[in-house]
Amino acid sequence: MEIQVNEGILNLNERVALENKRLFGENGLFVINIMGSPGAGKTTVLEKTIDILVNSVRLAVIEGDIYTSKDARRIEKHGVPVKQINTGGACHLDAKMVSGALGEIDLRHVDLLIIENVGNLVCPVEFNLGEDIKIAVLSITEGDDKPLKYPLLFRESAAVILNKMDLIDFTDIDMDSLRSDIKKINPGVEIFEVSARTGKGLDEWARWLIKKVREKNG
Ligand code: MG
Ligand code: ZN
Repeated sequence: MEIQVNEGILNLNERVALENKRLFGENGLFVINIMGSPGAGKTTVLEKTIDILVNSVRLAVIEGDIYTSKDARRIEKHGVPVKQINTGGACHLDAKMVSGALGEIDLRHVDLLIIENVGNLVCPVEFNLGEDIKIAVLSITEGDDKPLKYPLLFRESAAVILNKMDLIDFTDIDMDSLRSDIKKINPGVEIFEVSARTGKGLDEWARWLIKKVREKNG
């Protein structure tokens, strides 16, 4: 029974996600959905990415958070429109929450909409939001076992950002096995090794992202 209920929720979500997708298409928006654990560095990656892209792409951000607007306030300082969604306890964003936030963003004047999901490696990936691509952020301090333990996120993501590379000497991480596990799950995935704190590696990621935006909008 429980499985049927969950499938019903997911089907309903898919319908709203398709409406979101149509709206994104009509307005020429490229949309990414960023996922990862709490503390993986999603917001810091996003802040640094905005600083790189802000002069070449028109950006907007939707911040998903259970209760606070701490991340949205950080993003605001970078001069881009940001809309907060508080899920009020739910551990993921769904398509309806995003749909509700879209009314408050002037979509016609945005090329790239970045959605930061609630920090969680498990269920956000099960809820499509209508995005073009999903992005996983994994910090290397979380350990090299995460891709095999949470394969769905890594299978569904177009790129994996391996963050906190500046801390590598303080970990026992096996980067070869981490990379090969990710590629085993998703052979076509792009992997970026970055330090959001120092900025190292983010140019390459930003170039890849800008190419994706241009591919959609010509
Ligand atoms: Mg965050
Ligand atoms: Zn959830």
